[in-house]
Amino acid sequence: MVTQGGGSDRSPYEEEETARSRKIVCLLCHRQFPNKEALLRHQQLSDLHKVRVGKQQALNLQVAMNILGAAICSVLKALVHNGKVDIDLEVY
Ligand SMILES: [Zn+2]
Repeated sequence: MVTQGGGSDRSPYEEEETARSRKIVCLLCHRQFPNKEALLRHQQLSDLHKVRVGKQQALNLQVAMNILGAAICSVLKALVHNGKVDIDLEVY
């Protein structure tokens, strides 16, 4: 089995080591669970969790779109500035 380095997909929870026991925390809902099964059940069944996941994804998408938009805009401005493209840029 080949594992690829990077670890880019982060799980939306973290395992917390406490003095007495190990707890798992849902980072979206800030709720603690005694084990992974309880967390999985929460992720699958909790309406609150689903709402938060949806909001988080919308937020991530928005951030990505902003970054992409800014990048495209700066490239276009550079092209126009260099006289390579002749278009009117709308300024928002
Ligand atoms: Zn949750």
